Amino acid sequence: TISMIALDSHGNIAAGSSTNGANHKIPGRMSDSAVAGAGAYADSRVGGCGSTGDGDIHLRFLPCYQAVESMRQGLSPKKAAEDAVRRIAEVYPSYVGALVTLSYTGEHGAAAHGWTFEYSVRDTSMTEVTVFKVSPMDTPR
Ligand code: ASP
Repeated sequence: TISMIALDSHGNIAAGSSTNGANHKIPGRMSDSAVAGAGAYADSRVGGCGSTGDGDIHLRFLPCYQAVESMRQGLSPKKAAEDAVRRIAEVYPSYVGALVTLSYTGEHGAAAHGWTFEYSVRDTSMTEVTVFKVSPMDTPR
């Protein structure tokens, strides 16, 4: 999966996701990437989110919608991603996936479960790219 969130100089936020679904797909199901809130979600007044991982589970939890709504309530991008991933891992302890989040102010964050996740950020100069490594969260009990 490739998920992206973009924030332009006018404050517009867009998010999108693309996947071949090969790793997790139940035969016949549509991609989580195609479902707003599951693969990606954005609201320019708040922020955006992209996901990767078990799309069958993302389709049940809409974690990107959840993360953006949590940012709307005041959570930081990182806390919002962690909260959405935790909600999944409480029900599915073997969940493998990650969320990346971006606020309208340009703050970013991420959370992962079941694997170490990496995401990259391109700065406003559009020249520098920084890679961030995210350790897997503990499974909630
Ligand atoms: N989310 C994708 C899917 O289940 C797979 C992936 O992220 O690798 O379709």
